Amino acid sequence: MNIDYQLLSPQLRRTQPLEKDIELGFGQLRTDHIFLMDFQNGEWVHPRIVPYQNLQLAPGAMALHYGQSIFEGAKAFLHQDNEIYTFRLDKNCERLNQSAEILSMPQLPVEMQLNAINALLDVERLWIPTTLGASMYIRPFMFATDDSLSVRPSSSYTFAVMLSPSGAYYAKGMDKSLKLLITQKYHRAVSGGTGAAKAAGNYAASLRAQQYASSVGADQVLYLDATNAYLEEVGAMNHFHITRTGELVIPEFTDTILKSITSQSILSLSNELQTVCGLTPVQRKISISSFLNDIQNGDIIEAGGFGTAAVTASVGHYILDNGEHYTVGTGEIGSKTKLLNQYYSDLQQGRQNAPANWLMPVKRIN
Ligand SMILES: *Cc1c(COP(=O)(O)O)cnc(C)c1O
Repeated sequence: MNIDYQLLSPQLRRTQPLEKDIELGFGQLRTDHIFLMDFQNGEWVHPRIVPYQNLQLAPGAMALHYGQSIFEGAKAFLHQDNEIYTFRLDKNCERLNQSAEILSMPQLPVEMQLNAINALLDVERLWIPTTLGASMYIRPFMFATDDSLSVRPSSSYTFAVMLSPSGAYYAKGMDKSLKLLITQKYHRAVSGGTGAAKAAGNYAASLRAQQYASSVGADQVLYLDATNAYLEEVGAMNHFHITRTGELVIPEFTDTILKSITSQSILSLSNELQTVCGLTPVQRKISISSFLNDIQNGDIIEAGGFGTAAVTASVGHYILDNGEHYTVGTGEIGSKTKLLNQYYSDLQQGRQNAPANWLMPVKRIN
């Protein structure tokens, strides 16, 4: 892939590292450039890096009307050796293709995605935050661009990558456990639907449930399957809980759950987690009745969520539609959840040895 750098604006390029004391937040800042590439006549063409700017889009662009729009979220960290490393980025690229398959969008070879993201990270390397735990959030996305009102898969698409320097999710350490609403009123996904895709539409469809959760004082929604029998996930995080016997339980992946890369990584670190926090990761279906029962009888001692943004979130409370309230353990952040978060962050940031190829340095090309 020959990336066109001609539109790259030399005047815009940073010459100094990002200021250390800058307030980053999550996803608020933009870097100076984005990566763009078009899909036309069955081919990916014109890969380019251009200044961050508004996109040109036909009012009839199919993404706006019929929702063919997918995305990814990953992070890169600056390590002690002063190099930037992406973390399991190939997994994100593979998942973009799984989402594309579900939404009848074209495949984009993983190598091309990796090259695109690496090239942009290289151009924007001085934008990487230097404070501990802060990262470069990477947002690749793909959307349909045919100017057409027919309902069919678009024939043209744009793939884009934007970057956002972001602060450490827990700048002062994990400080607060969440309260989740478990509702029978709204569902995120049904079998045979699009729940396993990281699709814009899944997020649009979750907003109403999120507003309902906020209205009853909950932070987020823990979704049930369409039969209201099993726990699924938290909308932007996978569910987990920890049992008194040392199991770290994650719901079995079905086509109604987005396969979190964080969850998958945790599942593959079985030996390490045994050593670090005495936990054995397992996957199984979790019925809502046994879940609530086990919280009450003390068999479940910690609960939370896995996702790239926070790594782990701790959940201390669950409430039901009828107002019933369940407190996990003491309701405070669990000590094993903290250890998990620390261990995984250490892997990402190069303070622990990660499995081969999980960390990839951003090459200097431009
Ligand atoms: C992105 C996302 C997650 C978290 O996945 P990670 O790969 O760990 O970031 C979980 N659930 C949904 C619905 C998501 O979109």
